[in-house]
Amino acid sequence: MKRVRVDHAEGRSHPIAPDGADPAREPQPRGAVIRGRRPVDHAEAAERFLAAPDHLSFHDKRLWDLREKRDRESHGIPEWEQLRQLASDIKEYALTRLDDLLEEFERNATANGVVVHWARDAAEHNRIVTDILRTHGATELVKSKSMLTEECGLRDHLQEAGVSVIETDLGERIQQLDNEDPSHVVVPAVHKLRSDVAAVFARTIGTDPGRDDPAYLAESQRMSNRPLILDARVGMTGANFLVADSGAVVVCTNEGNADLCASVPAVHIVSAGIEKIVPRTGDLGVFIRLLSRSALGSPITQYTSHFRGPRAGGEMHVILVDNGRSERLGAEEFWTSLKCIRCGACMNTCPVYRRSGGLSYGATYAGPIGLIIDPSFNRRKYSLLPYASTLNGSCTAVCPVKINIHEQILSWRRVMAEHHEPSMTKQISMKGASALLSRPSAYRAAVDGANAVLPHMPRFALYNPANAWGKGREIPQAPGQSFHAWFKARRRKP
Ligand code: SF4
Repeated sequence: MKRVRVDHAEGRSHPIAPDGADPAREPQPRGAVIRGRRPVDHAEAAERFLAAPDHLSFHDKRLWDLREKRDRESHGIPEWEQLRQLASDIKEYALTRLDDLLEEFERNATANGVVVHWARDAAEHNRIVTDILRTHGATELVKSKSMLTEECGLRDHLQEAGVSVIETDLGERIQQLDNEDPSHVVVPAVHKLRSDVAAVFARTIGTDPGRDDPAYLAESQRMSNRPLILDARVGMTGANFLVADSGAVVVCTNEGNADLCASVPAVHIVSAGIEKIVPRTGDLGVFIRLLSRSALGSPITQYTSHFRGPRAGGEMHVILVDNGRSERLGAEEFWTSLKCIRCGACMNTCPVYRRSGGLSYGATYAGPIGLIIDPSFNRRKYSLLPYASTLNGSCTAVCPVKINIHEQILSWRRVMAEHHEPSMTKQISMKGASALLSRPSAYRAAVDGANAVLPHMPRFALYNPANAWGKGREIPQAPGQSFHAWFKARRRKP
């Protein structure tokens, strides 16, 4: 493949792609799983999720709990904000020197006995994996969780090629057995109740349908997967970090399944996005302190494994995957989204994500980070996603690498409007809102009028199918006076 080669414009903190391409303006179809051309309607899909009140309240509470744990952990570290700044600086440094660092990684990894492959897109990635499996006569692949392989549609591709894929992460395995995509980057089955998991396992691995205690379910899954891992010739992991100065691949997990996939089979394949590079081993101290605290509110992941080479008599392959990343790197407003370390903190804090579920996004990446990554794969398909946000900025506030997520969401809305992607109804309503909000006197008159009229309107006039906002929500009691009027009455005259 063509290596990433980024020109660095003098005096600029961001790189420019060689051909000046801007993925926001020129979306490139790739091998990623793009199902159909109709834009994903997040609101419509969320409605299905909202129809099950048990799931909704559980999901909201569980994710908010993670957010609160994250707060407690971060507040216990006085230098938390300096760590975030350092992480952001290291990532920006790495992204602006991506070509050199990737070549340094390749040199060091090769010297350690690793075979390094370069994949331009998802199709090339999938072909490389298939070739390695064929070379070793493998018809099964045991793997740990990797959002990149989801992005590349690897499982479907391998199944068509006659290879069975066995997910070994508990949440990812639940989703695989239930024939669903992961709904969260860290906790893939977070939208499921224990009773849901019990039903899936009873149907697929023969557990007792009447038992839903987590220890029984987790142990059953372990016992069903363990023989498959022990028999596998090839195992696969993702990568949390690629370290340029050592050629090491660092994988952070809580279940130990990645270590089994990497160490038990003779062949270990690592699938890694090119943005995972960090310059030095010493940089890991910053990211490891931030990652698990931001993700789950725990001080560290149970396993932080450094894979530097093949096991004795085995092989280790690292596939460095671009799949649109070098083009995103050249996009003035969106390149810093490549700093993401996939901690999921922005998802846990987002009120829209918590109340709509990850599957409603219809894309590999859900939540706030998904809103700024998914449209770079297919602008048309994901044209409505940037509207699935309140723009409250909470995502930006918790992001451990300081990505300006809510500002990028807003920029995507502008890009969509420039390309007339939103529906005609949305375009007309946005024009109306723009006209009203840009004229203070008209806005105030409208607010006063609404406050006066709303209390006297019959219920059916407010809560009907035309008012999507009113589904599941009550319009608050209008105050007797607007804030503007209140403030004006109290303002001290100069
Ligand atoms: S954008 Fe930030 S908060 Fe969201 S997953 Fe990535 S690193 Fe975590």
